Amino acid sequence: MNTNLPSLEGYLFSDQNENDEMWSLRLETNENCNILCKYCYASATSRNKDKFIDLNTVKKRVEQAIPLGLRSVIFIGPGEPLLYPKLFEALEYLKTVQIIPVIITNGTLITEEIGKKLLALNVSILMKYDGMNPDTQDYLAGKKGTGKKIHHALSILQKIGYENEQKLGLSFVTTNKNISEASDFWLFCRKNNIFPNMEQIGDEGRAKEYEDLLLDSGSFFQLKQKLSEMDKELGYSWDPSMPLPGIGCNQFLYSCYVSMKNKMGAVTLLRQRS
Ligand code: SF4
Repeated sequence: MNTNLPSLEGYLFSDQNENDEMWSLRLETNENCNILCKYCYASATSRNKDKFIDLNTVKKRVEQAIPLGLRSVIFIGPGEPLLYPKLFEALEYLKTVQIIPVIITNGTLITEEIGKKLLALNVSILMKYDGMNPDTQDYLAGKKGTGKKIHHALSILQKIGYENEQKLGLSFVTTNKNISEASDFWLFCRKNNIFPNMEQIGDEGRAKEYEDLLLDSGSFFQLKQKLSEMDKELGYSWDPSMPLPGIGCNQFLYSCYVSMKNKMGAVTLLRQRS
């Protein structure tokens, strides 16, 4: 049985952090988003598109973090990172200092040209994928057509070379609306060599307006038990009491979260909703 589960480069590290280094910066860059997910913890909208952090701040944070052992920068939102006007300049900079960039994106803005640029800049991608059925995604994203755009983005990424789980992950936020599609999602990722990231909806942000989407106590744990059993048949072994299915969840041991207001903190709560 294999306890070395698929991972996403720059997003998770499996080796021991023996020297208490800070390997990842989880960086907020911009607040605006082009969709309106019903579970968005940041309640992101298309407003505030002129509010974003400047490139020098990104560079300064990275320069400060490199001597602490920095390996990756995770562009976490709280809006859509592909709307951050300085994103590609920041990625170019990270390439020069050999830090792995990771973007957590809703995928709707990915074209072949953008995908190729991201691949050339060694970017790992964790893309929203909340439903096997595009209509489910449309409902959760609050915007018709989103599901088809995301499915199309996935086919683009696979076609251009994002074809192993080390560089491509899909993120599924489990709600009452899509929990019936969760095991198919998991199997789809395993069969296609894609890193699966599965979380449960939190009672925060815009989710407060959609209480019917919140999961009953116990249902996410039951789902994890089911996924763990499915994984056993594929040769993977993990404990369903892990907070996130199939992920060691040790990010808090080596990550620092930097908000747009330059507030810093250890990662105690995993927030990634793009
Ligand atoms: S969860 Fe992500 S993609 Fe959805 S509205 Fe919020 S920022 Fe946008």
